[in-house]
Amino acid sequence: MFEGDREQLATDIIRKLRARGHKAYLVGGCVRDRLLGIVPKDYDVSTDARPEQILSAFPNAQLVGAHFGVILVAPRKEIAVEVATFRSEGAYHDGRRPDHVQFETDPARDAQRRDFTINGLMQDPETGAVLDFVGGQQDLSAKLIRAIGDPELRFTEDHLRMLRAVRFAARLKFDIEAETFRAIRRNAGLICRISAERVRDELVRILTEGGARRGFELLDNSGLLDYLLPEVKAFQGVEQPPEYHPEGDVWQHVMMMLDELSHPSNTLAWGVLLHDVGKPPTFRVAERIRFDGHAEVGAEMAYKRLRQLKLPNDEVEHVTSLIANHMKFKDVMNMRLSTLKRFLCLPRFEEHLELHRLDCRASNGRTDAYDFAKRKLNELGKEELKPPRLLTGRDLIDAGYSPGPSFGRALEAVETAQLEGEISTREEALALADSVLRSAA
Ligand code: ATP
Ligand code: MG
Repeated sequence: MFEGDREQLATDIIRKLRARGHKAYLVGGCVRDRLLGIVPKDYDVSTDARPEQILSAFPNAQLVGAHFGVILVAPRKEIAVEVATFRSEGAYHDGRRPDHVQFETDPARDAQRRDFTINGLMQDPETGAVLDFVGGQQDLSAKLIRAIGDPELRFTEDHLRMLRAVRFAARLKFDIEAETFRAIRRNAGLICRISAERVRDELVRILTEGGARRGFELLDNSGLLDYLLPEVKAFQGVEQPPEYHPEGDVWQHVMMMLDELSHPSNTLAWGVLLHDVGKPPTFRVAERIRFDGHAEVGAEMAYKRLRQLKLPNDEVEHVTSLIANHMKFKDVMNMRLSTLKRFLCLPRFEEHLELHRLDCRASNGRTDAYDFAKRKLNELGKEELKPPRLLTGRDLIDAGYSPGPSFGRALEAVETAQLEGEISTREEALALADSVLRSAA
C-alpha cells in the first residue's frame, strides 16, 4: 500500500463532507505527526456532521463498536479512516469512560475533551491551516506533553492518560510539562484500576516504539512503576559484582539495554526488561556477589507477570524461555555437541542471541560466546542441527517392545548419540535403544 493512500482517503472524506455543507478536519495524532514531519499511523477526521449524516455520505461505512457514534470509512481493508462527530463528554465515574457524550457543532468543544494539547489540533488537509484551541502548536515547538485543562481532573477522569503521557514523551523525546507531571505523580496509584489489557498495550508500545529507556525512567520518576511492575522497580540499588558488571546496579544494566533497542519484537523487549528480574530475590554475598538460580527464578516471575498482563500464550512462553536460558551462553563453548545443538535449536534462537548480545554490550562487553554461537549456527547448518529422527516410539513398538516410561529415555539417548555424530543409521539407533531398554528392564 502506498502511504499516501490513507491521507488521500482522509482528504476525500473531508472534501465530501464539506461539499454537503459540514465542517470537517483532520484531528489528533495525525495532525501532530504531520506537523512533526512524521508519517502518521492512522488518520482521524472530526466533523459537525451527525453519525447518520456521515453514514448517508458514506453508505458503505460502518459504526465502530467501541466508541460511541464513530464511523469507520474503509473502502479497502488496509485503508480505513475513523470519522467522528464533534463531541463533549460528561462526567467520568469508572476511571476510563465518560458516562455520556454530547454531540457538538463547535470544533473547540471537541478539542477540549482530548488528552494532550499536541493531540488536540485540527487541520485542513488542503490548505494546511491549523485550528488550535488548546495551544498545541506552541507545545509542539516547546516539545511538551501538557494535559488539556486541569491535569488533575483529566487523569482522574481517565487514568490510562497517565501512561499515554509517558508513551508520547518517550516516543517523541518530549518533556512532560511540570504541572501535568505532578498530577501524574499524585494520581499514579489509580493506574491499578485500569484493566490488564490496556496497561499491557501501553507498556508494549513504550517498550517497542522507541525511547524505551526514557519511558521507563519516566514510569519510575512518576511513581507509576511501583504500581505496574514493582519487581522492576526492585532492580534499583541491587549491586552486582563489578568484575562482570562495571556499569553499576541491575537497574543501570537494564536501562542501558533498553537504550539499545530499536523497534524490537514484543518478546525481545519483554525479555530485555525482565531477563534479570530474578536477581533481586536471589542476591547474596558469598566470596563475591552471587545470584544463584536467578535465570530460573526470573523465568517464573516473568511468567506470572506476563500472564497477569494477559500477553498471548506463545509470547509468554517465548519470553520465559529467553529468560530461563539467558545464562547458558556462558557455557556455550564447553557444551557437549548434542547440548550445543539443542541449545541452538531453541525456537526463535535469533532472539536468544540478540538478548545475549545486548546483555554483554551493557556489561562486560565480551563477545566471545556470541561470536562462537553465531559461527556454530552457520557452520552446522539446519540439517546437522536438527537431523531427521532415526527412530520413533512407533518403531520401538513395531520392533516388539512394549511401551513404557523407558521409551522416552531410549529415544533421547538415540537422539543424543545422533547429535554427537556417534550413530547415523536406523540399525545403529535400534541397537542403542535395545541396550537402553534392556538395562532398564
Ligand atoms: P498514535 O500515534 O499512538 O496512534 P494518537 O494521538 O493518534 O497516537 P490514538 O489513540 O490513535 O492516539 O487517538 C487519537 C486521538 O484521540 C488522540 O490524538 C487524542 O486526541 C484522542 N484520544 C485518544 N485517547 C484519548 C484519551 N484516553 N483521552 C482523551 N483523548 C484521547
Ligand atoms: Mg492514532
